[in-house]
Amino acid sequence: MRESLLHRGQALALAIREADVARPRIEAPVPHGGGGACLVVTVPRGLTEAGRDRTVAVAVRAWAWRSLLEEARRLADALAARMDRRVADVRPTRARTRWGSCSANGVIRVNVALAAAPPDLLEYLVAHEVAHLRWRGHGPRFYAALAGLLPDWKERRRRLREFEKAHPELLGAR
Ligand SMILES: [Zn+2]
Repeated sequence: MRESLLHRGQALALAIREADVARPRIEAPVPHGGGGACLVVTVPRGLTEAGRDRTVAVAVRAWAWRSLLEEARRLADALAARMDRRVADVRPTRARTRWGSCSANGVIRVNVALAAAPPDLLEYLVAHEVAHLRWRGHGPRFYAALAGLLPDWKERRRRLREFEKAHPELLGAR
C-alpha cells in the first residue's frame, strides 16, 4: 500500500480513516508540519486489507483526475478567452506518448499523468493546446501565439521533458 501520492508536484501523505460511510470520501489536502500536506481518505469499516487498499487507490486516483480536469478546464477557458477562442471541452486521456492534444473541433485532451506534475507544467501544456485553437501546426505563428499566452513557455517545456524523464512510469498509467 503506497503511503503517499505525487500530486501537482507535491508528495501528499495519505491518512486512511475508517468510518460508517457507504462510499470512500476524500477531503481537500491539509498542510501538516514539515511543509508537507496530508490527504485524508475515509473508507467504509470492515473491508479486508486488500479491499481497503484497492478502495483507497481507486478513490485517490478518481480524486486526482477530477481535480486535474477541473484545473485544466479553468486554465483552458481563461487562456482561450485571451485569444478570442472557445474550448469545446477538456477531456482526459491516458495516451502513452503525449501529454495532450487539441482536435480540430476544439476539444482539448489532457493526459491524466499531469495530475502528478507541478501546476505550471499543466499550465504550459494547456497553453500549448489552446494555441492550437488558433494555429494547427507548429509553425512560427503558432509559437508566437504560445509566447503571447506564456512568455516562459520554453523553460516550462524543458521542465516538462525533465519531469517526463524523471517519471517514465506516469505516461500511460492505468
Ligand atoms: Zn502541438
